[in-house]
Amino acid sequence: MKAAAFSYVRAETVAHALDLLASHGDDAKLIAGGQSLVPALNLRLLSPSILVDIGRLIELAGIVAAPDGGLRIGAMTRHAEVLSSQLVAARCPLLTEAAAHVAHAAIRNRGTFGGSLAHADPASEFPACVLALGATIVVVGPEGERRIAAEAFFTGIYETALRAGEILVAVDIPPLAPSVMTGFAELARRSGDYALAGLACRAGRDANGRLDDVRLAYFSVGDRPTLALGAATTLQGQLPGPETYAAARAALASDLDPPDDLQASGAMRLHLAGVLLERVLDAMTRDGSNTRRSA
Ligand code: FAD
Repeated sequence: MKAAAFSYVRAETVAHALDLLASHGDDAKLIAGGQSLVPALNLRLLSPSILVDIGRLIELAGIVAAPDGGLRIGAMTRHAEVLSSQLVAARCPLLTEAAAHVAHAAIRNRGTFGGSLAHADPASEFPACVLALGATIVVVGPEGERRIAAEAFFTGIYETALRAGEILVAVDIPPLAPSVMTGFAELARRSGDYALAGLACRAGRDANGRLDDVRLAYFSVGDRPTLALGAATTLQGQLPGPETYAAARAALASDLDPPDDLQASGAMRLHLAGVLLERVLDAMTRDGSNTRRSA
């Protein structure tokens, strides 16, 4: 199948893109890397009458070291750049780890960080990462800039808190304290496939090695990336180990309600979520130090 006919405009600046969105309303659609939008157009799941291309907006690209030790990642930063960035590896290794699991090299060369978040596929890696990291999504629109906590950004399957006429411009990632570790793992049938279940985790450890401030962000287990709050509470103040993990795994049954689909049953996804919890926390804490590790 081929896409329905549409017009195409390349935005010269963010202000130009905002003007185009304002004048065309619901008939317009932004295109960034096109790796999710073009398949949707070709399947005629979407039929916008005009595409507004933000692909050449240099002001939206790049990764910047924030003075507080965090990062700002521009919306047009390609997945491949996230994967290869030394700055990301040093300040936010969770994203480096996750980027290696996003699709294949050809898609990573075109797909963008902002596009992945705006598209809000519940099986995508980066939305869960920004949730685990407590990041802030920066958007601009007709009424100026809004800063949206990752917890409030993902509102349903392919749905976000973005309002009509708004553009996601950047993501602010807070610094990780030295005592904070991160970990990531996913289970997919083949390398490069969307995951059957995945987990992005951030956790601290106190001076006695007890877990502190744990954030377990699951993906591909519901209609949006989901924080497993009950399991995180169970882990709080506990020493890592089989008994601690078993209690947290039991709590997942109240936190998550994965659907059945053609790929896997909900029960299987819930089981995988437990496997991931144990695997990720074990890898993060295995050597008893407070280094950042991934599963
Ligand atoms: P586009 O396709 O250009 O846009 C997607 C949507 O986001 C559109 O609705 C667009 O209007 C909107 N949008 C884009 N940028 C902005 C912005 N700055 N502000 C507001 N709205 C915006 N992804 C994964 O996470 N994991 C995978 O394993 C994976 N596997 C894939 C396998 C295949 C075969 C393919 C084709 C894609 C796969 N993807 C996967 C999707 C890929 O990562 C996309 O790059 C990403 O989902 C969207 O980024 P994009 O820049 O290509 O966005």
